Amino acid sequence: MNLILLGPPGAGKGTQARMLAESHGLVQLSTGDMLRAAVAAGTEIGVQAKETMERGELVSDNIVIGIIAERIEEPDCASGFLLDGFPRTVAQAEALDAILMQKNKTLDAVIEIRADDEQLVERITGRFTCAKCGVGYHEVFRRPLNDGICDQCGGSEFTRRKDDNEETVRSRLQVYHAQTVPLIGYYGGNGRLKSVDGMLDIKSVNRQIEEALAGLQV
Ligand code: ADP
Ligand code: ADP
Ligand code: ZN
Repeated sequence: MNLILLGPPGAGKGTQARMLAESHGLVQLSTGDMLRAAVAAGTEIGVQAKETMERGELVSDNIVIGIIAERIEEPDCASGFLLDGFPRTVAQAEALDAILMQKNKTLDAVIEIRADDEQLVERITGRFTCAKCGVGYHEVFRRPLNDGICDQCGGSEFTRRKDDNEETVRSRLQVYHAQTVPLIGYYGGNGRLKSVDGMLDIKSVNRQIEEALAGLQV
């Protein structure tokens, strides 16, 4: 099964992607994570992307399309992948369709996670991540069971993203409305789009997605 998770910053794409990757044996492909890794490693792509990401704008289509085209070729993607944060523009969606067609792969569903902008600011400004295993937490909505210790791996170091401040979140939301929302129409026409209410708690959102997937003929 090959899926896309679509939604504004903070909607819960990463959180749900991890859960779905585990329950369905899919590889999670997060362009945000890949770009942050490139920035941390100081690669050519990382150097090009760094400031754009810090401003909350989109990295160029060519860069992200190139990253995804290469990654989808890897053998681990053969049994199914979940795109988290890609595509984000119509040009990226068109490029993805071409890549999939060329590789004889299909897209089974596009899951849109809907949420209100004000809630998203709160989600993003409270977000932190385990430095060791990458699990996401939230100061209010998803605290580790024991303060300061990751539930998943026992790690005790956490990180916050540089772009997770209120000002940058507001520009990321604007970018989402201007450049990514048109994808809802792009995928809406052919029955691949499934929308879920991202304002509910994490488990309820997961339940809605699982129900939508159960209805697919894969
Ligand atoms: P995205 O990948 O879409 O940017 P995340 O999955 O990182 O979003 O979620 C953003 C923040 O909100 C994280 O701190 C996460 O723990 C929290 N979160 C995710 N889903 C929910 C939810 N349904 N209700 C409350 N908080 C949530
Ligand atoms: P979130 O879902 O919380 O907004 P991501 O981790 O998906 O964050 O993305 C972080 C940043 O990485 C984006 O603001 C953008 O600068 C860049 N980025 C990630 N994916 C893409 C993409 N598909 N196209 C262009 N830029 C991207
Ligand atoms: Zn951890």
